[in-house]
Formats: sequence, structure tokens, C-alpha cells
Amino acid sequence: MTQIRVRYAPSPTGLQHIGGLRTALFNYLFARSQGGTFILRLEDTDRTRFDQSFVKNLYDTFAWLGIAWDEGPDRGGPAAPYIQSERTELYRLYAQQLLDSGKAYYCFCSACRLEELRVAREAAHASETGYDRHCRALSVPEAAARVAAGEPHVIRLKIPLGERTEFTDRLLGSIAWNNDDVNPDPVLLKSDGFPTYHLANVVDDHCMGITHVLRAQEWLSSTPLHIMLYRAFGWTIPEFCHLPMVLGQDGKKLSKRHGSTSLDEFRRNGYVPQALINYVALLGASYKEGTDLYSLDELAQNFNPDKLNKAPAVFDYKKLEWYNARYIRMNSDDALASLALPFAQAEGLFGELGASPTPDQKALLSAAMPLIRERVSFLAEIPAKIRYLFIDPVIPAPEEFFPKKATLQTTIALLSLAQTMVPPLASFDEDTASEQFVKETAQRAGVKLGDLMMPLRVAITGSRISPPLFASIRLLGQTKSCAYVNRALSYLCAVSATE
Ligand code: GLU
Ligand code: ZN
Repeated sequence: MTQIRVRYAPSPTGLQHIGGLRTALFNYLFARSQGGTFILRLEDTDRTRFDQSFVKNLYDTFAWLGIAWDEGPDRGGPAAPYIQSERTELYRLYAQQLLDSGKAYYCFCSACRLEELRVAREAAHASETGYDRHCRALSVPEAAARVAAGEPHVIRLKIPLGERTEFTDRLLGSIAWNNDDVNPDPVLLKSDGFPTYHLANVVDDHCMGITHVLRAQEWLSSTPLHIMLYRAFGWTIPEFCHLPMVLGQDGKKLSKRHGSTSLDEFRRNGYVPQALINYVALLGASYKEGTDLYSLDELAQNFNPDKLNKAPAVFDYKKLEWYNARYIRMNSDDALASLALPFAQAEGLFGELGASPTPDQKALLSAAMPLIRERVSFLAEIPAKIRYLFIDPVIPAPEEFFPKKATLQTTIALLSLAQTMVPPLASFDEDTASEQFVKETAQRAGVKLGDLMMPLRVAITGSRISPPLFASIRLLGQTKSCAYVNRALSYLCAVSATE
């Protein structure tokens, strides 16, 4: 059996998106499910749109996701280099090979001529588009002489006319084109000596021993050209599988309009990599859905390329949010605290913005996780919810302390009573004892339980809506809890004195 080799071949001309992750992930899962090899190849031949920051974004994103390739620019491997701009000599050699065998030809048409052609056709409402095969008729010696004379040129594929090109896509089945209808004699090697996508992609897939090409359906229109190139070289054609499209809920191509699409943004918004991976793994694939989240290994074990859907997959942000919330709930305190840590640091929970936690702060972060686990869907929501455990809360306006219908004076009385409860509340080790104690205190004083709790809650957490109060007091401890309450009480008394 041949060893399966697949690749993710992004062009670093933009940030990594959901679509790229889907392609990378399916290749990864396919390789893992078959004991094959997953390769990263950088298709950076479009030098006008290339930017090194996009390469960095690619590495950062996949490191964050925990998806690793077996061979690639950063890992090396038997087919190195894995960066197309470092392989240009190879493409020139292979382009020459096609020239020599009469499967390609030199074209000397200037950009200006091609533009005139386009304009003239448009004016004539002509149906033809693309190159008019003008230089295909040049004799070989004439073309060679012009090249030798230093005339700028490109190399084009000589598409075999009057024939058909067919292939069987693993998902879409048999597909056929009339060669005459395919992009006429596309450029293989540009005038600057750089290859086009078509040439570099095919040469590399061949030289890197790629057995299966799993790629987005937007590349389907390039496939006949690629098949013709394989045939022109006399190479074995890999198996193609064009993955179903990923659309927004309005049926249009997934874009910024629908929400975040760059993986960076998902990361910043507090999505958990595993949740994103789980959800994206379902886009166009069939897994037993809904019950649980799978690890990457489990996804790989269950991945079946023959169970992909032909219909486009719809990206549902709500469903992803559900996965994310579920993943947050599933994590242990320590694991969730590690995920939340960069967000807490960025919000300055440990002192300066970006500061690292002390061992005590780290332990407190873990201990705080049970308080918020059920209340957040995104990691980015966590710091604001637990800030008061690390930093004295900003005292809100006096009315914020008032229970329903209460005045400033009754609120002060209630908070004074609550103040006496803090030391015992800080010493209990669970909620039942606290509840019992607070209920009794309220009864004895003849006040409503809720009225007694509200000013205390605001004094401790800085807000009327907060994580569980008793657990907060226990985490803060007696000294800090008392200090928060004293501070709030002095403030309310000061307000009262000015009235
Ligand atoms: N460089 C292409 C991209 O940006 C690769 C397409 C393919 O997989 O053939 O997706
Ligand atoms: Zn030409």
C-alpha cells in the first residue's frame, strides 16, 4: 500500500481563516486516520501580495490550535525546501522540460497587447476571454531567437485542443471538461522567472510525493489544468477531493459580514482551540454529532473521507458558541485557569497590564474558576467577572447598593448588619452553612434575606450581578472581605453626611 502524503499549501497573502483551518484540519485528520504524513508547504510565489507577517500568523495560529505537520519549512523533511520561493530553480527546469517536449511555448505578448485584446473583445461583446493563443503559432527557432535576443517573455502551457480532460473526484465523482473551454494556455512561468500557482503547485505535489489533494472547492476550476500538466509531464495524478464550501447562514461565501473569520479574532474573543477544532471538523463531514467534544485523536479515528457531504456546509456561530461554552464547562479548574490566564494578564488582573501572576494569584485564579464556569461562553468574558477577587472594585454610585425600595439610611443599616456577618461567612467551608447563617441573621433582624444580601454583594463584588457571593467571600478571606465592606460603608456614610 502506498504511504499517504497530504499537504496544506496556503499562500501567505492574508490572515489564516476558517476556510484555511478547515482545509488544514481535514488533511491533518485524513493523514492521521491513515497513518500518513501531513505536510505544510508555503505557496509564496505571489510576491506582490506576500507579507512575512502572514507567515508568522500562520505559525502562531497553528501552534495555538495544536495542529502540527510532520514535514514543513520549520521542521524540514525529505522534500525540503517547503517554501516555493526557495524552489524557483526547480520550476524553471520543469518549464524548460515542457518547452523541450513541445508541451509549452514562449509568449512575448506585452501586458499592453493583452489589455488591448480584452478591451476590443469587450467592445465587440465577444464571448471569448483570456489569452488568444497568439504566440502558439510561432516557430520554435523564431521563439528561441527572440528569447536569445533578450525579449521579455512568459512560458505558457500548450493545451491539447479538441480533447477532453476528465478525472474522478473522491467526493464529486467524475468531472469532465472540453479542453477548448478551459482557461486558454495559461502562464506557467512569469516574465520575472517566478512560476504561477499552477506550475509550482503541480511540480511540488509531484516532487513531494503527494498522494491525495484535499482542497477547497474554489480550486476546482484549476484542476483540469493541473491534470493536463500531470499528463504533459507524464506523472501519476494524485487523487483529488474538493471539499464542500463553507457558507454563512445566508448562503453566501463566509466573510467578515457574518462575524469573525480570521482565526486571530476567534482567539482574541476567547474561543478555545479545541472547541473551534471540534466545530470546524464537522463542517462538511459526518460525525456522530452533538453528544460530546472529541479530542484531535478521536476526530482522526473517526474521520472518513468517504462520508463527506457534497452540499455546502453552513457556518453557525451560535453552534460554535455552544461548543465553546461546553468546552469551558468540561475543563478542570487548573486547565481552565491556564486558558484564561493570558486574558487575565492582558486585563491587568495581576497588577500592571500584562503582568504575570504570583503563585498566590495563580492559585486564586484556579480557585475562582468554579464561580464563573457556568456563566461564560468565551474566555475573554472571564477577567471582568472575577476582577474584584484580584483588584479592589471601583465603588459604584450609592443607589447601586440599595435593595428594592430602600433608602440610603436603610441601606447603611443593612450593610452594617452585613458587616458583622463577614468573619463567620469567611470561615465556613461551604455554602449551606453560609445560607443557614444569613437566613437566621435576617430573620432575627426582621429584614428580607435579599435586602440583606444586596448591599453586601455590591460591597464585595462592585456589582449587583455577580458570581456567587459566599464563595467570593471565602476566596477573598476575612481581611480583604472586611476591608471591602468597611470601605463601602464609609463611602455610604460620607454620602449620607452631605445630604
Ligand atoms: N496556494 C493555494 C491556496 O492558497 C493552494 C491550493 C491548493 O491546495 O492547491 O489555497
Ligand atoms: Zn503571446
